[in-house]
Amino acid sequence: MTRDIVTTADIEPTADIETDPVCGAVTDVELARGADLVTTYAERTYAFCGAACRDRFLAQPTRYAASGRSEP
Ligand SMILES: [Zn+2]
Repeated sequence: MTRDIVTTADIEPTADIETDPVCGAVTDVELARGADLVTTYAERTYAFCGAACRDRFLAQPTRYAASGRSEP
């Protein structure tokens, strides 16, 4: 019931990629999800390369979530 799209083909490498909003690393959402490194904020999914980036994001989500640009 929770699946909107079901793909029977093999998982493509580029199927579900997000950029870590904290450090900018390209992160595989499925791998991150398995490691509990995915969070949803403002109806958007964010994936992190590691727990340190996830924790940093959760501490100040508005700082990282807005546009990816950091204030000077
Ligand atoms: Zn990171």
